[in-house]
Amino acid sequence: MEIDTKRVAAKVSLDAIQSNLAVMHSLVPEGTKCIPVIKADGYGHGAVPIAHRLEPLAYVWGFAVATAEEAFTLFDSGVRKPILLLGGVFEGSIDGMLARGIRFCVSDALQGRMVAERAKELRIPANIHVAVDTGMHRIGFSPDEGSADAVKALFEDPYLIAEGLFTHYARADEEDLAAALSQLKRYLAFRQMLTERGIAFRLCHTANSASVLHFPEAHLDAVRCGITMYGLTPSDEMTALMEENGVCFRPAMTLISHVIHLAEIDAGEEIGYGGTVTLTRKTRIATVPVGYADGFPRMLSGKGEVLIRGKRAKILGRICMDQFMADVTDIPEVSCGDPVVLLGRMDGEEITAEEIGRLSGRFNYELVCCITSRVPRVYGEGA
Ligand SMILES: *Cc1c(COP(=O)(O)O)cnc(C)c1O
Repeated sequence: MEIDTKRVAAKVSLDAIQSNLAVMHSLVPEGTKCIPVIKADGYGHGAVPIAHRLEPLAYVWGFAVATAEEAFTLFDSGVRKPILLLGGVFEGSIDGMLARGIRFCVSDALQGRMVAERAKELRIPANIHVAVDTGMHRIGFSPDEGSADAVKALFEDPYLIAEGLFTHYARADEEDLAAALSQLKRYLAFRQMLTERGIAFRLCHTANSASVLHFPEAHLDAVRCGITMYGLTPSDEMTALMEENGVCFRPAMTLISHVIHLAEIDAGEEIGYGGTVTLTRKTRIATVPVGYADGFPRMLSGKGEVLIRGKRAKILGRICMDQFMADVTDIPEVSCGDPVVLLGRMDGEEITAEEIGRLSGRFNYELVCCITSRVPRVYGEGA
């Protein structure tokens, strides 16, 4: 199918992603591996091209995703380094995962037994990463003696291989690491209980992006690299810390469209659905053919800005499903067909995912994940 990238395109720089990952790798000890987290189609950036770009790097152990379908897509595209599914186990996808060697995250004994049963039946050993609930209270074994016995019992099955032991932090993106440290302590205590039972794991991993930045005790054998690999920030506190430490990531995505219509509208006229704005002056309006069906947040109505000719233009009225209007009265040089940057840089100006996140109530992680499949991803270098 032909795709016209003039209406809108998400330009993704694989160079930026690779260099952001290299920065993260430089912050962890020699020998600690990176696991790029490319769930939700690589946070909206495109999991397959990212995996193909990063797979040859020696320090990349493998990739992490959230669903079986995401894992299958990667494997079926030719990715052969380990793919770890961070979510729970669903019966219907176990066989497909075994056939492709996808790593299982097991968060209770029942899931472990389900995997073991199919592994035995198909005679394919399953690599297991045991999830530990150290304080997030999302998934995982509680880190106590009873769980340690249960995990030991699971690995008596010869078809289950103890590959990984992992946990996830609820508050590693805060400057105060007290909560995260208490999670790490519980994790290490549980690991010790398992060691005493003769269970050792090849890959102990706990760190997310924020932990890579300022929580070295959490780095262990591998770190899971998500948001900062895409050049976005885990939190405002982490942004401040990165500035202090001179650590810099490059946003990998630019959302770019073009002006489709220009008009001079008289003072007193209302703009868009609901007539939410009445013009107080003769206004030059540029229409941009992007809307909330592309994942551009409707909450930016009347609040957000876009870049045209390197200058900021305010969004006027409500964002529609497929189009919105911007005030370009003060940028007289604008003409039809001009590029419009919705997210990213143009000349000296920049609209960040964090800015849009603040204005729309949709934080930066969510914003990029929610750019819909209607927006073609274009892989340019440098961009
Ligand atoms: C999403 C996720 C990550 C990545 O987190 P970032 O904050 O994007 O680095 C790491 N580990 C788990 C378990 C996750 O679900």
